[in-house]
Amino acid sequence: MRLLRSTDLALRVLMRLAVVGGSSPTTREVAEDMGVPYTHTAKIVAELQHMGLLDARRGRGGGLSLTEKGRTVSVGAVVRSFEGEGDVVECEGATPCPLNTACRLRGALRRAQEAFYATLDPVTMQDIVAGPTGPLLLEISRPA
Ligand code: SF4
Repeated sequence: MRLLRSTDLALRVLMRLAVVGGSSPTTREVAEDMGVPYTHTAKIVAELQHMGLLDARRGRGGGLSLTEKGRTVSVGAVVRSFEGEGDVVECEGATPCPLNTACRLRGALRRAQEAFYATLDPVTMQDIVAGPTGPLLLEISRPA
């Protein structure tokens, strides 16, 4: 199973913001730190703000910061939200699979997908930035 690029970027933005301490980086700074185009990052930031996971303050002294919900959100919840409810294979679509009305594989793949998400449900952002990841994030976000 391969995650959408937007899912991975959303997790990267949240991880980056989970280690900022007292500072509030801008969207451009987060994009540069994570090596991702600004426009793509800006769309993800807007979506995370809409989900109530981060605050974005404009102007001098503004920047991005996690909300309480963003600090405690599970990785599974973020992945579910960005990936959506779709199946991991396209059984219908423009050229429907001839087996799609009675396919046991489809059910097995759905259960596997749910098991994947369920494994990520107990994992929080704080879990992810513990250990070597947090110091590395601080290192790459340090001004040159
Ligand atoms: S074989 Fe089953 S799971 Fe695969 S595309 Fe067809 S209906 Fe979907």
